[in-house]
Amino acid sequence: MFQIVILSVLVGSALTAQGTKWKYGETDKVHKIYGPKDWGKVSKYCDGSAQSPINIETRSVENDGSLKALRFLAENRYGRVSGVLENNGHAPTLAIDKPRGTSTLTGGPLGNSVYKLQQLHIHFGCKNNKGSEHTVNGKAFSGELHLVHYNTKYGDFKTAVDKRDGLAVIGVFLQGDDDDDDSSYSLKIISGATRYIRKAGSKKPIRAIYLNNLVPHLRDLSEFYSYKGSLTTPPCYQSVKWIVLKRPIRASEYVLRAFRSLLNDEEQPMCDNFRPTLPLNSRSVSQSDDDRLFN
Ligand SMILES: [Zn+2]
Repeated sequence: MFQIVILSVLVGSALTAQGTKWKYGETDKVHKIYGPKDWGKVSKYCDGSAQSPINIETRSVENDGSLKALRFLAENRYGRVSGVLENNGHAPTLAIDKPRGTSTLTGGPLGNSVYKLQQLHIHFGCKNNKGSEHTVNGKAFSGELHLVHYNTKYGDFKTAVDKRDGLAVIGVFLQGDDDDDDSSYSLKIISGATRYIRKAGSKKPIRAIYLNNLVPHLRDLSEFYSYKGSLTTPPCYQSVKWIVLKRPIRASEYVLRAFRSLLNDEEQPMCDNFRPTLPLNSRSVSQSDDDRLFN
């Protein structure tokens, strides 16, 4: 009897160590693959009180002029980066080949710390009226690009990922557009590579995209919302200073269709790979400028 108890404890811990599976949408009870409502079973941090994404209510955003000091600095001209685009089963993700040049963020909401770009990835909807993780006054966009940076004081991403001030993520909304030509060159490069990574686990090197072309507003980071939150996927560490740009970038139907051809771990369409918004609770959202005066 005693041996049986020990055995079951060992099996239990082995399962936890392996990591519980998660997905978007509803929980798959048969295969025990948990949807966002049950991510607390995957990682206890997902049940925390400072989770992301959130709905940004522009009426209750606080003004903070000091945020304007945020600076984006590219190591290569025009923010050229290269790396490997991977279908990790959840999002097309470009791991930046940092020795070939990346970019950094500092100042404003990040203080004196320097945050380095580690990877970027994209959340997107099956239809144009949803797909973003953050929403503004309840409105979702067609997608959301995440530029994930780690605090260089921790040396590398792995060490920084669960620290209170470990990460800074820029969120950029994708606005779906029926005009086929209306996407940046760099977004077309990324979406064009998706045909090589249709199945989860596949990879395709990307020689060059230009961050300044992908997100033109990076050069002048004055219009954004900022708040303290979390990773939007398990393990949901509450380690992220969010910088959500107010201005979306445009994504053509052609580009969005390319993303929608990607498959997830279950070999189903990957689209709608966004976590629903979570309560703000005791947190506040700040902005550097008050554009309500102009609207
Ligand atoms: Zn993300």
